[in-house]
Amino acid sequence: MRDDNCIFCKIARGELPAATIYEDDEFRVILDLGPASKGHALILPKEHYRNLFDLDDELAAKAMVLAKKMINKMKDVLGCDGYNIVQNNEEVAGQTVFHFHMHLIPRYKGDNVGLVWQVGELSEADREEILNKLK
Ligand code: AMP
Ligand code: ZN
Repeated sequence: MRDDNCIFCKIARGELPAATIYEDDEFRVILDLGPASKGHALILPKEHYRNLFDLDDELAAKAMVLAKKMINKMKDVLGCDGYNIVQNNEEVAGQTVFHFHMHLIPRYKGDNVGLVWQVGELSEADREEILNKLK
């Protein structure tokens, strides 16, 4: 499965150059061209999936295992202090490239990477509504 107009399909399959830090039959991991911090990388499946809503289950599991492997390895290489895993789904959530990818963002003490939101409060109405709809 591929999308001829998708830049990440081309990168993942090696048809366009990218700084590859890991590759296997199903994934390529590359350095992000617009990094939030030094070492910011992207996990790309070689098959095209728009995002997590339609990602194959088995591949989703493998992507998380790969994320774990990569951050353990990269932590030593980069000397970072922590990691954020970010994964955007649809435009409203900040997705700009519509080929599933996971951001691996190294965090350094004192960096100015902004991944914060204003803490709200779980209202009784929302709590009841959501719990009722899920039952
Ligand atoms: P998102 O906003 O979650 O869709 O993330 C897309 C990410 O892809 C951004 O962090 C971009 O900097 C990155 N990006 C876009 N084009 C390229 C490219 N050709 N090579 C590497 N990273 C890219
Ligand atoms: Zn694609």
